[in-house]
Amino acid sequence: MLQDPLRLRFAIFFVVLLFFIGLEFFLSDRKKSAKRFARWPANLGMSFVSSFLIRALSPLGVAGVAVWANEKSLGLFHFLDIASHPAIFLASLVMLDLLIYAQHVLTHHVAFLWRLHRVHHSDLELDATSALRFHPLEIVFSFFYKSLFVLIFGFSATSVIVFEILLNGFAIFNHSNLHLPGKLEKILRYFIVTPQMHVVHHSIAENEQKKNYGFCFSFWDRWLNTYLQRSEEKDIGLKDFRSDKEQSFWELLIQPIKKQG
Ligand SMILES: [Zn+2]
Repeated sequence: MLQDPLRLRFAIFFVVLLFFIGLEFFLSDRKKSAKRFARWPANLGMSFVSSFLIRALSPLGVAGVAVWANEKSLGLFHFLDIASHPAIFLASLVMLDLLIYAQHVLTHHVAFLWRLHRVHHSDLELDATSALRFHPLEIVFSFFYKSLFVLIFGFSATSVIVFEILLNGFAIFNHSNLHLPGKLEKILRYFIVTPQMHVVHHSIAENEQKKNYGFCFSFWDRWLNTYLQRSEEKDIGLKDFRSDKEQSFWELLIQPIKKQG
């Protein structure tokens, strides 16, 4: 598994993506517009460029940084000599999820990070492919952000790989246009971020975009006071960047240098 974690991640990512795209045909929550066929290549294109950039930076991604840090026994877990304890593996997954929650809050509150993250929010519909639509420089920022915490805590390469597979899977699930039955949704939402919970975060209303930041576990939002049960708005996306031209692949790439509003 450690031989090529990026390839394994990609294989699982692709299978999960196809599964949820298929499921959206049977259980959709919102009307699907014909524009999705224009959105899909742009969204897929973003993730291709990102994968290419990360490979160029570190062939094994953040896991590569973890392999290096573990060899050098860097990080708190090594200092306390608890790095190989099974409980640390589970704790690492929970900690990484909280760190990604914090990263997501940062991307909404730090101006230059918002310029990158708003590319994700400018999607006019939400479906499984929206989980691919992150500006490549936001993915690069996320690589350095996660790497920093790998060095601070000494997360194992296995925990990083498992977490990234989970994060990708959850992102596809909670961006998908899925209507889960009421009772099931209520039970799931207690523990994990459901599509109905995450769609609130993609509301066109700016105050609602600052709610429901979580990707995997739903309790961070409840505990840290950023939880919103449902949206008051029907429209998805930003008030700006709504034309067909602004939604094209090349325009998304240069969107961070454009003025909003
Ligand atoms: Zn966001």
